[in-house]
Amino acid sequence: MKDNLRKHFNILPELEELATDIEIDSRSIFSRVEDLVNYNQMRVLAALQNQQLSDWHLHGSTGYGYGDMGREALDKAYAELMQTEAALVRPHFVSGTHAIACAMMANLKPGQKLILASAEPYDTLEGVIGMTKAPLANSLTDMGVGYEVIPLKNNTIDLLAVEKAISPDTGMIHVQRSSGYASRPALKMHEIAQVVQTAHSKNKNIIVFVDNCYGEFVEEIEPGAVGVDLLAGSLIKNPGGGLAISGGYVAGKELYVARAAERLTAPGLANELGATFGQLRLMLQGLFIAPHAVGEALKGAIFTAALFKKIGFKVSPDANAPRQDIIQMVQLQGPEQVIAFCEAIQASGPVDAHVRPMPSQLPGYIDPVIMAAPTFILGSSLELSADAPLRPPYHVFYQGGLTYAHARLGALMAASRVLQLST
Ligand SMILES: *Cc1c(COP(=O)(O)O)cnc(C)c1O
Repeated sequence: MKDNLRKHFNILPELEELATDIEIDSRSIFSRVEDLVNYNQMRVLAALQNQQLSDWHLHGSTGYGYGDMGREALDKAYAELMQTEAALVRPHFVSGTHAIACAMMANLKPGQKLILASAEPYDTLEGVIGMTKAPLANSLTDMGVGYEVIPLKNNTIDLLAVEKAISPDTGMIHVQRSSGYASRPALKMHEIAQVVQTAHSKNKNIIVFVDNCYGEFVEEIEPGAVGVDLLAGSLIKNPGGGLAISGGYVAGKELYVARAAERLTAPGLANELGATFGQLRLMLQGLFIAPHAVGEALKGAIFTAALFKKIGFKVSPDANAPRQDIIQMVQLQGPEQVIAFCEAIQASGPVDAHVRPMPSQLPGYIDPVIMAAPTFILGSSLELSADAPLRPPYHVFYQGGLTYAHARLGALMAASRVLQLST
């Protein structure tokens, strides 16, 4: 690296040498990622070709959005890719939480019970479920839906406890594929398959729901392939490919997706209305880019795991471990290091690099959170970003990177900054 650039980005020279060694050692791990990208790129191309995607699909609709064929092609392509009967992909979902809440709330009735099979859900869902008080009494709990949290056993789903918790009023089993802010590893598809078998052997009407955030295109199959009934995710994460400017998706059995559509719009309107505001090209092109962008993010996560392990920190997953999401956890040694790490990621980015991230209380989150998101799309976490709740054990979550070169640079800057603190 040229001296002036090394200085600009504040990178320790000894880490640069380490980076070269890591990349030599990581060749076979990177080539596994490339195999995955090759496969998922073909899956996405086939799904778009199966819709005979044409230029006129890309422009979208105005007003009511009747007969928006680009929107319908997008829904069908997602259904094929998520391996489900139907999908609802909309810019009208304000976030992943909104898509998840819509899918869950549309498919649970008063008196039914929700089982949380992968223990506590992602922070923003606690308000949706009613685990924390919802100020306007609009949570699932307020609606009269009960819930039961099943703690993990040996860091994975306790199938026997899930089976025991199932009763005649069980309406849904929630499973979160990614680790989110928890310290457990992400779930493997065969573990999700076991939940489906457990639930459906008791009662095939129990809806197995998967929060698919951060999991899309990280494996060769998606949850629909193992019989998951309903899933949802965010377009400013993996499947938006860094291009979708907002939105979310729900996919699953026809009836369950139709209910979500009625909840998003209105009974009777369902999925037939909803102008796409000129966003179709970005959503479709983003989907086309998504397998590649996920691959870049995965390589960045692998590099970060190897780098921080080499300089003495605990990481999860390890560099050579199989991955089920794009998140890399690094365990730091206190709030100063967490802040330094996030400041460095912020300083590495293309947008708002001069801005200093500060820990703050965010709607839906319990502890103060620091977020580094030097991104083109605000809060997009398929773009290089890092976040951490400021609480022991000081886990920082690093994810994304539309290009590996940027992800690698961010990791080198974060490691340099953390090492400079302790000297
Ligand atoms: C990001 C995320 C969500 C919520 O998505 P938002 O778009 O931030 O609302 C839900 N679950 C998991 C596991 C996530 O990573």
